[in-house]
Amino acid sequence: MMRTLLLRMSESPRLARWVTGTAATRRMSRRFVAGEGLDEAIEAARECNRAGMSASLDHLGENVSSEADARRARDIYLNIFDRIAREKLDANVSLKLTQLGLDLGDDFCRSLLESVVQRAAGHGNFVRIDMEGSPYAQRTVEITRRVRAQNQAVGTVIQAYMRRSEGDIRSLLAVGCRIRLCKGAYKEPPEIAFEKKSEVDANFLALMKILLPSGVYHGIATHDPQMIEATKEFAARQNIGKDQFEFQMLYGIRTDLQEQIVREGYRMRIYIPYGRDWFPYFMRRLAERPANVAFFLRHLFRR
Ligand SMILES: Cc1cc2nc3c(=O)[nH]c(=O)nc-3n(C[C@H](O)[C@H](O)[C@H](O)COP(=O)(O)OP(=O)(O)OC[C@H]3O[C@@H](n4cnc5c(N)ncnc54)[C@H](O)[C@@H]3O)c2cc1C
Repeated sequence: MMRTLLLRMSESPRLARWVTGTAATRRMSRRFVAGEGLDEAIEAARECNRAGMSASLDHLGENVSSEADARRARDIYLNIFDRIAREKLDANVSLKLTQLGLDLGDDFCRSLLESVVQRAAGHGNFVRIDMEGSPYAQRTVEITRRVRAQNQAVGTVIQAYMRRSEGDIRSLLAVGCRIRLCKGAYKEPPEIAFEKKSEVDANFLALMKILLPSGVYHGIATHDPQMIEATKEFAARQNIGKDQFEFQMLYGIRTDLQEQIVREGYRMRIYIPYGRDWFPYFMRRLAERPANVAFFLRHLFRR
């Protein structure tokens, strides 16, 4: 119930305006968000690199409602790629298609994405398209496939809680697409998504076993020690090298486990979100773990 409530709240623009407008909550968001400006995200990425980890920068924002806002988001991403190159960082970029105007039309959104992917390719870099809620799943897969057919510098995300995911993986692998596998962070109806943790975990492992032997470089994105151990064991059994895939985790979550995995010789990429529109992202992180709500309330009332 708590998860459902928090995910509903994450979609309220009014609540977002109220919460992001106060200094106490802005400070609190730093638990999961690097800061409001690119400089802070760059510094966080540099720290990851020093610790032997790669990064993926996400300029927070989703569901823009005007073409001008979508173009602004595109320009921000073009600039991020230039900056990563100038700073010689080991970092790529994660973005959401609704930030590039998916609600305004597929062709419009794809044309903006193409320019970001071209810029990434020009720097020898890579764009990861995050997977959003189920109303966007089919279009995200289709747009990724079309852009991937022209340019290899793009990949997307598959959510293990979605019943359709195996089919999506197979269609994306058919065009050699790199995939990030995660459990899934949105509220979805049971007809299309597994609800029980045991079912999501079982599908995560089944999908991981399709991805790893595919010969394409994928990301296994989870903080769940059981998923991580099972991935390591499967890779070792199949003679899949530690450099043939990467683990991925979110900024600020299980840093102890992040470091341990690096010490064991695996690749680790940290997803670093930054920007002013941190509210929906922050609420999804609260929804994932009820203990985070207690943390939020303690900080809210401590001034
Ligand atoms: C790099 C990366 C990119 C992602 N991209 C997407 C995406 O594009 N689309 C999408 O729908 N989802 C995305 N997610 C979120 C993902 O779907 C899950 O919601 C999230 O990772 C929690 O699932 P879990 O695999 O960590 O396992 P869980 O079973 O949820 O958690 C396992 C353990 O991890 C720790 N943990 C997990 N979440 C938190 C938290 N918020 N705070 C503190 N501890 C926590 C706890 O110790 C928990 O017991 C991404 C996740 C990662 C790591």
